Amino acid sequence: MSRADTPFTQSRTFRLSWPVIVAIAAVGVGMLLSGVLPGYFVFLAISAVIAAIAILGLGIVTGSAGMIALCQLTFAAVGAWIVSLLNIMHAPGGFILWLIVGGIGAGLVGIIVGLPALRLRGVNLAVVTLGFAAAADVTLVQIQFPGSADGIAVERPAMFANDRQFFLLSVIVLVACCLIVYFLQRGRWGSGWKAVAFSERGTAASGQSVQTAKLTAFAVSAALGGISGGLLAGQVQLPFASSFTPLQSLALYVLAIMSGAHLIDMAVLGGVLWVLVPELLKRWGVPQDWAFVVFGVLGVQALTGGSNLGQVIRNLIWRRADRRTPAAELTPLPPDADQDAAPVTTTTVATAHQVLLSGEPVLQVQGLTVQFGALKALDDVSLEVPAGSIMGLIGPNGAGKSTFVDAISGFLLGHGGRVVLDGHDLGAASPTRRARLGLRRTFQQDRVPPLLTVGAYVRFVARRRLAASDVEEVLRFLGCPPARTRLAGVDVGTRRLVEVAAHVLARPRLLILDEPAAGLSHEEHLALGARLRELPQRFGLALIIIEHDLDLVRSVCPSLTVLDFGRVLASGPQTEVLANPDVVKAYMGETELLK
Ligand code: ADP
Ligand code: MG
Repeated sequence: MSRADTPFTQSRTFRLSWPVIVAIAAVGVGMLLSGVLPGYFVFLAISAVIAAIAILGLGIVTGSAGMIALCQLTFAAVGAWIVSLLNIMHAPGGFILWLIVGGIGAGLVGIIVGLPALRLRGVNLAVVTLGFAAAADVTLVQIQFPGSADGIAVERPAMFANDRQFFLLSVIVLVACCLIVYFLQRGRWGSGWKAVAFSERGTAASGQSVQTAKLTAFAVSAALGGISGGLLAGQVQLPFASSFTPLQSLALYVLAIMSGAHLIDMAVLGGVLWVLVPELLKRWGVPQDWAFVVFGVLGVQALTGGSNLGQVIRNLIWRRADRRTPAAELTPLPPDADQDAAPVTTTTVATAHQVLLSGEPVLQVQGLTVQFGALKALDDVSLEVPAGSIMGLIGPNGAGKSTFVDAISGFLLGHGGRVVLDGHDLGAASPTRRARLGLRRTFQQDRVPPLLTVGAYVRFVARRRLAASDVEEVLRFLGCPPARTRLAGVDVGTRRLVEVAAHVLARPRLLILDEPAAGLSHEEHLALGARLRELPQRFGLALIIIEHDLDLVRSVCPSLTVLDFGRVLASGPQTEVLANPDVVKAYMGETELLK
């Protein structure tokens, strides 16, 4: 079967085409509205479209990437400023080109403003961005927009000169922005934004640079802000600083949160509300500034209640959809899996051990020492993992197992000792770099971003071109739900399995699993054990498995290392280690071991 007839390619074409159809329909609706809207509403409608573009941008930086940015209208001011400047310079290309240049300029400013986001989070980032908005506001009042002192109006394109025509142009720009955001959200950048919002460590462990994810979010968001500002310059023709105040940026942020602006349709709805609420208040004789209060109250509701307008509407749709399509089920493992997982005899494991130990070491750890204040979490730990082998890392709670994983995957800087992967000293390499070099790890806590689907997540983590059949095969092999399943609806135990599958698809040299079976039933443990045992041969990787369930450890790991109080208590073939009197003593009370 050629690539062209795989179901995967067909579904891609389908997915590619429907947003384009929606976009064409939206432009059609824009044309209709530009013809029939009463004159007074045309201007309001342009404002709504412009606000929608700015909110679309906020949806990326706050909704998808989870950062607080309170200066969206400052980016809009940058766009408006650039358009005004190009206008008085009579720059070639005309309004539409100026608009794009304004978007790019604002995007660059966005990257600069985003730099503090690499170090700051939450309220601190909010304060920095609001401070930037305030500083820009003061500056803007001083320097004014180019041409405004002399009353030089921004020239609209000849085709879109009157308000009705300009409304149509705004709709076309909005639709283009929505399409771009749609495809970005579905691509690597979009996955990166959603991943970084949920867990920076999880993102880095996937080989994705956290900095890139944050800065691209800021850049795209600011560029959309710049385009909205440029359009505003075209709408009012003489832009003033009062259209871009920090207070308005704040209100816009609240509106974005409230409407769930990471969803494109909700961003458009947000734009409509931005104009509609003050307009209604005006009609009811209430001062328009009260719109900020209305947005504030709804925003507080969204932030405290955890659900926003977009989510509420989407949930209604999804519930309907779920009734129509059968809910995604955990694909059961083949019936022989349980049998496979029955504890293997000592001889089989021992033979496997002999064979595997003859491989070159993929990981060498020498003298690894980690100190947390007075506590030595790891004390001179040295070990080797041969290529294609499976090593169990066990030990009582607090023995230092997770600290060991953090240290060798690059999450703990300033540790003593050496970590060597495939003969290369990893030195101070970042977690992202280590992941790209083929050292992958999973987490004891859930780090799987709920906003993605299973398929988008595994592709994001794998960082390789994957055929749909490869993805499906590995997902099925590890008992994961199908690729189209939304991760938000998957239980934590299964999310862990999806995490394992994703990292397996990355084809690493070494994969470290930190308690992969936590959250699974005993039967599922056994089934998982059978699958884990096959991983090295099927995918050419070495495994370190941290696990509490000794049945699982016995059935899967030919060699064991036992940590206790940060020190290696015993290391070697499973049977020897489990018979070691020190190990038995450390596990006193865990009678199971003494069987
Ligand atoms: P395990 O995974 O084997 O249960 P951990 O590696 O999580 O153990 O923890 C080892 C020891 O280090 C524990 O005593 C724990 O309290 C301590 N520890 C872990 N992380 C930190 C940290 N970031 N700061 C201080 N102490 C820590
Ligand atoms: Mg742990």
